[in-house]
Amino acid sequence: MKKIEFYRHNIGEQEIKAVTETLQNIFITTGPKTRLFEKEFAAYLGAKHCIGVTSWTIGAFLVLKAWGIGPGDEVIVPAMTFIATPNVILHCGATPVFVDSERSTGNIDVNKIEEKISPRTKAIIPVHLYGQMADMTAIRTLAQKHGLRVLEDAAHCIEGTRNGHRPGHLSEAACFSFYATKNITCGEGGAIVTNDDELAEKLHLLRFHGMSKSAANRYYQTYQHWDMEILGYKANMTDIQASLLVPQLERIEETWKRKNEICRRYEEAFRAERIEFPVSLTDSKPARHLFTVWAPRGKRDSILVALQEKGIGVAVNFRAVHLLSFFRKHFGLKSGDFPVAEEIGDRTISIPMYPKLSHEEIEYILDTVIKTFQSKE
Ligand SMILES: *Cc1c(COP(=O)(O)O)cnc(C)c1O
Repeated sequence: MKKIEFYRHNIGEQEIKAVTETLQNIFITTGPKTRLFEKEFAAYLGAKHCIGVTSWTIGAFLVLKAWGIGPGDEVIVPAMTFIATPNVILHCGATPVFVDSERSTGNIDVNKIEEKISPRTKAIIPVHLYGQMADMTAIRTLAQKHGLRVLEDAAHCIEGTRNGHRPGHLSEAACFSFYATKNITCGEGGAIVTNDDELAEKLHLLRFHGMSKSAANRYYQTYQHWDMEILGYKANMTDIQASLLVPQLERIEETWKRKNEICRRYEEAFRAERIEFPVSLTDSKPARHLFTVWAPRGKRDSILVALQEKGIGVAVNFRAVHLLSFFRKHFGLKSGDFPVAEEIGDRTISIPMYPKLSHEEIEYILDTVIKTFQSKE
């Protein structure tokens, strides 16, 4: 029996050549390649600054730290996300305050945010789930009204737009992931984009021990003593990571077109069989990071096993975060608190969706998913 992997990355000859070149250079840590990637990534997103880091998680943590978020503060997050989103708030000593999802897309329900805002609320972290952007226009209006900052979790959304806006346009900062299964990858990596000069400067310090000069600054200029201005961390992207990312970024639109074709084929076939999936909004260009279908109630786990037995790699993105043991235990959260996120979390199945899928594989996936759903109804 053939096996269709859940995901296969898009690293090829260009990336191998680029990384080999870097390994032959003097600089393998943060240097000219990192700078090049940061410049190109900022340009692609139409942002003023990009700061390359080692993961989404550390990047988002540094943004919250730069804003001084700490004990006693609250930050609003959707219940339907990956655990990294609330975890960075916890690492700052602050409290994540969850909000339910909208039924159509799974994104944060903007009508349910305001009731969660308290005098302790400092920021909102919307997540662009599966690559489709949350309603940033509404979120920005709310944030301005209540004096809150917004950090976009754009781990799924590099290529996406909504009403012509990209991640980073309607917020103080957007954070991206280059983890192994993300839209472009270097195994592990991340980046923050922002138009805020002061925040960018602070993030540069925070990602490198709070040091005023990086190793590359010291190498390329005559010797200057560095100073430690603030207590920082160690999160700088390396030239090895950046050289893997540059060619993928240059091909990103071409890659997106292929993913979009696959998604449209899936959508058309599933719609014909009345299989449910998150809607694609007409005012949006979805980044097409994940394709998920919603199983009949109570049937998700048996369908997951059935698809695996037929050689199809599957994933669950995600079970509602507030029902995981840690959040139940420490925040007293329970079933029924966020019913829409819970329903999506109980029904969602992510199926393979990436440019390397062949026509035969796509048709096999469609046929198998449809038959499996019908057999479980
Ligand atoms: C992958 C992911 C993250 C974490 O990214 P890392 O680079 O692994 O830290 C955060 N949020 C969402 C929604 C993700 O899918």
